[in-house]
Amino acid sequence: MRVLVVEDENKVAGFIQRGLQEEGFSVDLAYDGDAGVDLAKSQMYDLILMDVMLPVKDGLTAIKELREQNISTPVLCLTARDAVEDKVVGLNAGADDYLAKPFAFAELVARCRALVRRNRSDRGAEIVFSDLRLDPVAHKVWRQDSEIDLTSKEYALLEYFMRNPNQTLTRAMIAENVWDYTFDSFTNIIDVYVNYLRNKVDRPYDKKLIHTVRGQGYMLKEV
Ligand code: CA
Repeated sequence: MRVLVVEDENKVAGFIQRGLQEEGFSVDLAYDGDAGVDLAKSQMYDLILMDVMLPVKDGLTAIKELREQNISTPVLCLTARDAVEDKVVGLNAGADDYLAKPFAFAELVARCRALVRRNRSDRGAEIVFSDLRLDPVAHKVWRQDSEIDLTSKEYALLEYFMRNPNQTLTRAMIAENVWDYTFDSFTNIIDVYVNYLRNKVDRPYDKKLIHTVRGQGYMLKEV
């Protein structure tokens, strides 16, 4: 499980990082709201811990920005004690849960696990985009009610597209999220797989859904 912790106080950030690592999470740190948003946009996390009071960009603005960009990673908001208003505003901004500081570490871990679990079960729901339908539990895909037979890599690529429609997915993002590799000379393989996928998903149909974004990558969209 990958967690992004956005917290400007070094001591608190380090404490959370060490604690979560001991619980088996892999943890990235960001020390201001802008850096947090950048990381959340370029990497895939299972969970984001977001402090409210942050330099450069406060936590609530950061959460809003992520939601506006269709990044649906669960966010646990860390607020000052008893700030009921923070809680309401935080949930309105798109946070999934909040925890008042100072908190007991066991409580933090329990909330983290609950949010990740809840999100995973949501992820079991069918995804629909245009006339494409994907069942993440059965690993099956249909277009206009005919099932499309995909290899597991093609399937993973399409699922990534369908979870992130209408946004440019760079080859670096695809490499990291679908292949778990960091991007270097990976471009060819991605282009080859996108072509495989197009042959099956788009070629037999008039309406094309997988588009090239010149010089950048690819986008799933309806024209
Ligand atoms: Ca802070």
